[in-house]
Amino acid sequence: MQSINVLMIEDSAVQAQFMKGQLNAVPGVKFDIEVVDCLAKGMQALAEKQFAAIILDLMLPDSEGLDTFFSVRDHVPDTPIVILTGLDDINLATKAVEEGAQSFLVKGQVQGQQLARSIRYALQRTEAEHAEWDSPMFHLAQQQFLKAAQFMSLDDNVRQRLLFPQRTLVVTLPFRRDDYQQVETVFGYRVQHVLTMGPTKGGIRYHQDVDLGEVSALAMWMTWKCALMRLPFGGAKGGVRIDPTGLSRHELQRLTRRYTTEIIGMIGPDKDIPAPDMGTNEQTMAWIMDTYSQQVGYTVPAVVTGKPVVMGGSLGRREATGRGLVYLIEQSAEQMGLDLKHATAVVQGFGNVGSNAARFLEELGTRIIAISDVSTGIHNPDGLSVSALLDYVEKHRVLKGFPGGEEIDNQSMLELECDVLVPAALQNQLTAENAPRLKCKMVAEGANGPTTLEADEILHERGIFVLPDILGNAGGVTVSYFEWVQGLQNFTWTLNEINNRLHKIMTDAFQRTMLRKQRDNLDTRTAALIEGISRVQEAKLARGLFP
Ligand code: NAD
Repeated sequence: MQSINVLMIEDSAVQAQFMKGQLNAVPGVKFDIEVVDCLAKGMQALAEKQFAAIILDLMLPDSEGLDTFFSVRDHVPDTPIVILTGLDDINLATKAVEEGAQSFLVKGQVQGQQLARSIRYALQRTEAEHAEWDSPMFHLAQQQFLKAAQFMSLDDNVRQRLLFPQRTLVVTLPFRRDDYQQVETVFGYRVQHVLTMGPTKGGIRYHQDVDLGEVSALAMWMTWKCALMRLPFGGAKGGVRIDPTGLSRHELQRLTRRYTTEIIGMIGPDKDIPAPDMGTNEQTMAWIMDTYSQQVGYTVPAVVTGKPVVMGGSLGRREATGRGLVYLIEQSAEQMGLDLKHATAVVQGFGNVGSNAARFLEELGTRIIAISDVSTGIHNPDGLSVSALLDYVEKHRVLKGFPGGEEIDNQSMLELECDVLVPAALQNQLTAENAPRLKCKMVAEGANGPTTLEADEILHERGIFVLPDILGNAGGVTVSYFEWVQGLQNFTWTLNEINNRLHKIMTDAFQRTMLRKQRDNLDTRTAALIEGISRVQEAKLARGLFP
């Protein structure tokens, strides 16, 4: 049996001896443990030799608290660190995990078995960091999850299980452009994060930067989002690595049909149900539905949601994400004492989510002072007319050249003074760099993953309310659920029924999240995540293990 060489930095000789004895008694694994009793000696040992993992006490004669962790982490960033400390402090633990500690264990509360398991999992996680799905966005999703998991003391086995997607599929497609001159190879993905909760559900994204890590992150967020909304789905997501903006309708159709064919074994109305996301729309869903139906030999409307109403799409689905977001902006504003009738908003992105969010905010009397898309940003302190913007984009495809305001670049737009900032385009937009300069009272996340971990913390410290993505933008998947149910029952609901049910489900999730936030003194994102994760954990434990 190969041994795992571990450096234990621990100043108490009794404790070191005790843990060594415990680890050596664990069957099936062999540890080779070297002990040093202060930080300086630890750094020296790490400079001389490579260790597979580090067990670190935080209170040492020459260093205290998280500074001890930061010193070691910055010295050997690729070596997993398991903290084993006498400091039983949940905020310290959460911060340590957020900053990259693999585990935070409290002395006297862990046995050798648990410590050995934590080390083994830490090694697996570190190895997986170099796997195919490794990407900044997947890292963000994982770190958000780990922070919540630490806070809720999630069992380490469940934590490890949920940290990675259950199924991933990478496909390559031959793609022919209209000129018939060349055939390209295009990458496509479908990821199912958790299959425990029912069929999986999640959108399909067409974008030139899509990779397996991005799709895996989005699939993980879908799991928490569905669980938070109490929908009977696990999370999934798909993507094709291509810029759809320059493609003709024929090209998009060929690409979509071939991608559908490549992933067809994975999707189905009882298995995994795609929906639109960035770069895809109702038409894309119609082609997926048609391709699937052709292959099975009969029409299967419930294989996708977000399709045109005429072929079984739901009333209200198109605008559901923006509508749901504005329902919760209203409720957040009420709690903050913010009057939306006299408020201002800045919206990044003018696609499905951004345009509808802007429209519904305008209906409430909020002035939209700036809006952007991939081509430009438009600023008008007196307010932009959303219908005029929609008309312009209908004719010109993009906002560039819109006459009703001044052009503004994306960065400056995010930093404009306003009440509500709605990122509704891409991930990774609010960062450590611009978060200190934001001049809004609320960030309402229409996009998935628009805020980095560092920015999240800055916004929290600055008292800016964050309506997190898995809560704020869940209106889309909620009405997708309604569409799926209508499809399975061949029975349609009225728009009123749909909007009322959407309002009820989103309000319920919002109230549960706010209750947890206040009760446990959490930020809103972590509270929402814990709401979702707890439900998945409960279901996992109830189903048990197979075989
Ligand atoms: P979309 O393709 O309809 O629109 C995207 C918009 O973002 C477009 O206006 C595009 O021009 C703009 N954009 C792209 N790059 C930009 C940049 N660099 N700067 C500014 N704007 C830029 O996509 P969508 O469906 O509205 O999705 C937007 C976000 O919302 C994504 O993060 C998506 O995952 C999330 N989301 C969508 C839904 C849904 O139902 N469509 C549901 C939940 C979450």
